[in-house]
Amino acid sequence: MIDCNNPQIKSWKYVSADSDFSIQNLPFGIYIDVSGKKIACSAIGDEIIDLAILHQLGYFNGIQLPEKIFQSEFLNNFIALGKSLTRSVRQRLSDLLNENNDVLKKATEHHSSIFKKQTEVVMSLPVQIGDYTDFYSSIDHATNVGKMFRDPQNALLPNWKHLPVGYHGRASSICVSGHQFHRPKGQTKPADVEQPVYGPTRLLDFELETAFIIGKKTSMGESVSTENASDYIFGMVLFNDWSARDIQTWEYVPLGPFLAKNFASTISPWIITLDALETFRVPGYNQDPKVLRYLQYEGEKNIDIRLEVAIQPQNGIETHICTSNYKYMYWTMEQQLAHHTVNGCNINVGDMMASGTISGPEPNEYGSMLELTWRGTKPLTLKDGSERKFINDGDTVIIRGHCERNGVRVGFGECKATVLPVINS
Ligand code: CA
Repeated sequence: MIDCNNPQIKSWKYVSADSDFSIQNLPFGIYIDVSGKKIACSAIGDEIIDLAILHQLGYFNGIQLPEKIFQSEFLNNFIALGKSLTRSVRQRLSDLLNENNDVLKKATEHHSSIFKKQTEVVMSLPVQIGDYTDFYSSIDHATNVGKMFRDPQNALLPNWKHLPVGYHGRASSICVSGHQFHRPKGQTKPADVEQPVYGPTRLLDFELETAFIIGKKTSMGESVSTENASDYIFGMVLFNDWSARDIQTWEYVPLGPFLAKNFASTISPWIITLDALETFRVPGYNQDPKVLRYLQYEGEKNIDIRLEVAIQPQNGIETHICTSNYKYMYWTMEQQLAHHTVNGCNINVGDMMASGTISGPEPNEYGSMLELTWRGTKPLTLKDGSERKFINDGDTVIIRGHCERNGVRVGFGECKATVLPVINS
């Protein structure tokens, strides 16, 4: 076991029982300080921990860190130092916050510069995302979509159980939680007209996903095995892959999604390390038929991450609309990465690979409006009495996720974004 994951460890900092940021979490992010500078940070309870100031004050002495490693717009250079160093930093944070260690606890003159309320700081995108890939690895989601758009008897296409289907997405429009974006416009072809039309999407949807961030690069020609894949995965975030279903339906044949997906995506600001998530591993899906050798793996490779989505209308209260779990994934991250690199495709630190919509088997566990309302045929009723088939202007969609076991909670915080009306043109 990783030492700082020990459920017995308690912090001298106050952490409420329902906090995502226990001493067993210690995620990494980037915040914007009062002068507008971007600085690497971690979190404990409802506070952030300024890593640059900790470093300046000598609290990382003995760890071979470059002087300005935490005074950076993004975490890429820190992550690229490698897991032996990033693990040492997480372990040191755990030691400094441990209730049995009073070195930092007693240095009260340092506290106000190191610890800041999360509600009083603005978080920034944690990594510069190089390449972004989106998979399609939830069997319940793929089955639901196949039933709706193709053949209920043959919902999964012939390749689906043999390889983790994916496509290359676009990194430029991935934003950190808290942003707003305008309803996208585009070309659609409603069923009742002969020719395509131009206008705002009428079927704006969210997709409940997670994404993993690459922590170690490869060279062209190199392939990552399922056995070694976790060495290349730094951590995970929550991910909302906003989708315009009417644009998607018209454009996606034969090359897959394009403008229906690349207008905006939202990630949660904290990267939860794969190390912190190891505690919550569960067995993977029973894969039948047996997959090819390069996709086989040993051990427990799924993770029990409880996921939920809420919609908050403009000036209104939140309505919880679905619950799901990362453990429903048919293909694991390790298999996705092995498949992504099997042809020699190289990967870089900061690349992001999303899971695909994570749906569970029950109707309240579907990870998109498309499935929850079954193409709009079964609208949801929000707490304010209004109905939703898809997402309205003014709506904020909030994804939350956390793991919990043996009294330890490790969570992701929030992944939220608000839809603004279309810009007329
Ligand atoms: Ca997706």
